[in-house]
Amino acid sequence: MSFPQTGGCQCGAVRYEITGPPEVVYACHCTECQRQSGSAFAMAAVIPQEHFHLTRGVPEMFARATGQTKTMECWFCRDCGTRLYHMPGGTSYPNRNVKPGTLDDTSWLVPTVHFWTRSAQKWVVIPEDAIRYDTQPEILGWISPRSDEQRPE
Ligand SMILES: [Zn+2]
Ligand SMILES: [Zn+2]
Repeated sequence: MSFPQTGGCQCGAVRYEITGPPEVVYACHCTECQRQSGSAFAMAAVIPQEHFHLTRGVPEMFARATGQTKTMECWFCRDCGTRLYHMPGGTSYPNRNVKPGTLDDTSWLVPTVHFWTRSAQKWVVIPEDAIRYDTQPEILGWISPRSDEQRPE
């Protein structure tokens, strides 16, 4: 896979590029991701923030409370509503959890980790060689353990 890779929302008002590979690509089968995506699961490509660049437009942010003091920043196009990336815990988060279906070329994306398999829809077949978690672990390899606010989704 070569970089940069480009992507954007459905209407084209917001465009971005990533200049380096993801730390990980994961699928999340939690019910929040099912609701947000309107589908069976969500995917995320965890991109270090220095490798994520907006090249057109400014996305809008919806903050979802994930606990008493925790929020998930959800960034989307204000014109077409396409969800573009998440920042668990907000601005202290060192990555952008990019919704990788918004990339122009999605052919190279393979989720190697699956979260919340206990709420996966029954017809979803998770590959044998994937790492799977019933829910999601407290400590994630690509996230420094300095804060418990830095969780995926
Ligand atoms: Zn748009
Ligand atoms: Zn989720």
